[in-house]
Amino acid sequence: MRRAAIYCRISQDRAGAGLGVARQEADCRALTERRGWQVADVYSDNDVSAYSGSPRPAWRRLLEDIDAGTVDAIVCWHVDRLTRSPRELEDVIDLADRRGIELATVTGEIDLATPTGRLIARMLGAAARHEAEHKAERQKRQRRQNAEAGKVSGGGMRPYGYAEDRLTVIEEEAEVIREAARRILAGESLSSVCKDFEQRDVKTPSGRHWIPTTLRRLLASARISGRREHTPRSTFQTTRPLLGEIVADAVWPAIIDPVDSDRLRALLSDPARDYRRQAATGRIYLLSGILRCGRCGHRMNGRPRQGVPRYVCPNVPGSGSCGGIATNTARTDDHIRDMLLTALDSPALAERIRHQGGDDDNLAEAVRADEELLEELAQAWATREITRREWMAARAPIELRLDKNRAQLAGLSRTSPLIPFIGTAQDMLTRWEAMNVSQRRAIVAAVIRTITVATANPRKKWDPDRFTIGWIA
Ligand SMILES: [Zn+2]
Repeated sequence: MRRAAIYCRISQDRAGAGLGVARQEADCRALTERRGWQVADVYSDNDVSAYSGSPRPAWRRLLEDIDAGTVDAIVCWHVDRLTRSPRELEDVIDLADRRGIELATVTGEIDLATPTGRLIARMLGAAARHEAEHKAERQKRQRRQNAEAGKVSGGGMRPYGYAEDRLTVIEEEAEVIREAARRILAGESLSSVCKDFEQRDVKTPSGRHWIPTTLRRLLASARISGRREHTPRSTFQTTRPLLGEIVADAVWPAIIDPVDSDRLRALLSDPARDYRRQAATGRIYLLSGILRCGRCGHRMNGRPRQGVPRYVCPNVPGSGSCGGIATNTARTDDHIRDMLLTALDSPALAERIRHQGGDDDNLAEAVRADEELLEELAQAWATREITRREWMAARAPIELRLDKNRAQLAGLSRTSPLIPFIGTAQDMLTRWEAMNVSQRRAIVAAVIRTITVATANPRKKWDPDRFTIGWIA
């Protein structure tokens, strides 16, 4: 009795056929029985991206078993379930020759032992491939058209903040998005916000806790600002890029302002902010990187000595730092906090902060224009209108300007959350005490550029005059 391997594959390339694995298997079992064969094993692959070349573990196992001689026949629903390319079909034909494998398909008899059977198999395979390619092209055009019309894109889990129809705002979730946006724009880290959400049991649409990468995607999406983003699918990319192209105003309502959305997109795509690292380590030291060594000008970092946290000028050979200055973390943090809250209580500083960042709309526009320019250049290179060298040369000044504008935009974004605090030092102190280090850093970074620490006076145990604060004007 022939030992038949049933091979099933689920994929997207046969729309409307409803060919779930269960249905394929049931049909194949019935066919195996009719042929008087015995089912050796069932092999099924989940392969939603047809022709993508993604690995098919069950398919590999099947080829191995055929080679090992434990299988004499393959039963599948249609040739296009079995092979995804003419090359794979030739492999099967080779195997059929060498091992005398029989092939039976639910949709019709194919005898791989005869030239006519092979011709039919090849024709069926080619037709399926053509259909899939044609459909992929059609879908690609359709996706682009839908995007430009601002329509919803379907598939997958509903986006956070919107109901299943992807149009209706869920107010409770919208409030969470606005809060997260506010906090990230204030310079708080993604992991800090995620930890807080976990404590409050705020969950994603799939019922999981927020992690930095999912929150980052949510906040960087133009969707939450009522704008439609489009990312052309590329076979070279395995993960979707963070920022797609904004192609239209969407048909659904905005949850956050487009200006805030642009700031978030600038902030969260800024390579200088390594969120992954920040998420992993968390921040313990309030002023690390903000303090500067008064002797060599190097950034001072947090480093405990004998269990006591300190800020030190790192003593790293070759880094240009002198390693000659250190200060106690707790006393420094308290001192800077007092200076900061006092400063925020001053009407003059308050006035300056209020008048910062009037140009951010223009900046966001400039960033967008430069991003488009880079995209155009890349396309010009891809279509061979310009050489690689010309491309690189043209890119450099644009990237420089883009980096500068992005940094400035990110800097502006940090100031706005301070405004409600200004002029209420007492209230501020209460709030300060309730904040975590990441939130406090956001406040510090909004008003202080650097703090220079002078050499310690050996006669004084604690000397507040060592600290020179560089306020952001
Ligand atoms: Zn130093």
